[in-house]
Formats: sequence, C-alpha cells, structure tokens
Amino acid sequence: MLVVVVLLVTVLMRVAIITAVAYLLLPRGSPCPHCGADMAAVRNRLFDRLLPVLQRRWCLECGWNGIVRRIRPAPSHHAARRPLIPS
Ligand SMILES: [Zn+2]
Repeated sequence: MLVVVVLLVTVLMRVAIITAVAYLLLPRGSPCPHCGADMAAVRNRLFDRLLPVLQRRWCLECGWNGIVRRIRPAPSHHAARRPLIPS
C-alpha cells in the first residue's frame, strides 16, 4: 500500500511541475510575442471560468493567436498615491 501512495505522489508531483513549467512558458499579457503590437482578447465564457489565469488573444497585426498569461491591472489606489514627478 505504501508503494502505491509513493507512486501516486510522484505522479502528482510530475503533473504539478509540468503544469507550472507550461504556465511559465506562456507569453505574458497583451503584447504580441512576434511583433509586439497589442493583441485583442478573444472572450470565451467557458474558458474564462475554467482557467481564469489564462486568456486567449489574437494579434491584429501579424495574425498570431494563442493563449497568454492574464495580467491583472494594478489597483487604482496605488497609482493615485504615486507621485507624478519622481524626486
Ligand atoms: Zn503580432
């Protein structure tokens, strides 16, 4: 029984590592990984609910489309506290 538990934990750790590496390999945010232009978000309710940390995007300039890591916008109260001109 202990062998089964150890093998199951090993398999789960492999799945976790592969998921983390695949997530980190995805491009980040709205700049296109090919041309750098801003990409348009492609909305899909089911995809957004299942994987809210990922987002499907489409580049209008070069036609690249794929899944990127979603970047959450910074809270607005931080921007209000930040001085406009650095001293
Ligand atoms: Zn592009």
